[in-house]
Amino acid sequence: MKDENCIFCKILAGDIPSYQIYEDDDFKVILDVGPASRGHALIIPKEHYKNLYELPEELAAKAFVLGKKLITALTEILGCDGYNLVQNNGEVAGQTVDHFHLHLIPRYEGDDARVGWNPGSLDPSEAEELMALIKSDPAFS
Ligand code: 5GP
Ligand code: ZN
Repeated sequence: MKDENCIFCKILAGDIPSYQIYEDDDFKVILDVGPASRGHALIIPKEHYKNLYELPEELAAKAFVLGKKLITALTEILGCDGYNLVQNNGEVAGQTVDHFHLHLIPRYEGDDARVGWNPGSLDPSEAEELMALIKSDPAFS
């Protein structure tokens, strides 16, 4: 399954060059062209799925297991001090390429990579309202 308008499908097909650091039956892993930090890479499934909502559960599980394997090796190789695994779904969440991908972002003491948010505070009445709302769904009860 490919999407002819998708930049990652074009990269996977070899029509657009990339720096590929890893490949298996299900995924290619490439260096991000706009890295947040030195060694920022992307795990990309070979089949086109728009986002995590559309990704089959089996591939979602495999992507995370692969992420664990790769960051374990890459932490040694790169000499980084930690890792962010980031995965955006929807434009509002920062997704710019509509082909599922998992960011592997090495973190170094003192780097200026920005992966975060401004913490709010959980208001008790909002928490109660959220609990009632979520727990009313059979998936959470
Ligand atoms: P998103 O914002 O969708 O979570 O992440 C998309 C990522 O894809 C960005 O970090 C961006 O730098 C990267 N990207 C976009 N186009 C290309 C490309 O042509 N080649 C590579 N290697 N990365 C790309
Ligand atoms: Zn695609």
